[in-house]
Amino acid sequence: MLQRFVPYAATYLPRLLGGLFPDLLWRREPEANERTLYLTFDDGPTAAMTDPILRVLDRFDARATCFLVGAQAEGDPERVRRIADAGHTVGNHTFTHPDPWRTSDEALIRELERTTDVLQSITGQSVRHLRPPYGRFTRAMRRWGRRRGQRVVMWDVMPGDFLGMATQASVKRHVLRFARGGSVVVLHDNPIAPMTPAALETVLRHFSKRGWRFAGL
Ligand SMILES: [Zn+2]
Repeated sequence: MLQRFVPYAATYLPRLLGGLFPDLLWRREPEANERTLYLTFDDGPTAAMTDPILRVLDRFDARATCFLVGAQAEGDPERVRRIADAGHTVGNHTFTHPDPWRTSDEALIRELERTTDVLQSITGQSVRHLRPPYGRFTRAMRRWGRRRGQRVVMWDVMPGDFLGMATQASVKRHVLRFARGGSVVVLHDNPIAPMTPAALETVLRHFSKRGWRFAGL
């Protein structure tokens, strides 16, 4: 039952923390009446989910940001290239997705460096964004990000597509309720979130009908 509250906590908490950690990106400040959403997908690339997600994004001419796990990217460079070639932004989600709060600073930085190298060598583009696994940022990570020109990206809308109880309808309902101009929305490219492409489609249909656009960071 507690799971039910996770998306709410994960959506309200960033609004509080945003003021405390202004070097992190929680939401893009919109221009007046600008209707842009920044969709982000964590944990890819995956054989199961990346392609369906890319197809839905393409159908709505939507761009997004994919925070990739370095080891998976290294094992599947073709799929990483497809993501980048479709115009999406590729970001750093560490090499093996460890819990940053249980990882030494040195090990974490090695993960970030190695992922940067892998992604840049596959896409030929510099990596400008990083997302901490589980949203658990650390001081060393923030310092490293500043030095290496990678902005730590959090979110202001988390619909909880990774939760066992999540449904297409619950994900859509959450995004509709909380998304504002400039919102950063977290979704997952991960088989634990099998309904994400379908939920994404309903979200994109809803917002594009109302004149919104979807951009990468
Ligand atoms: Zn993740």
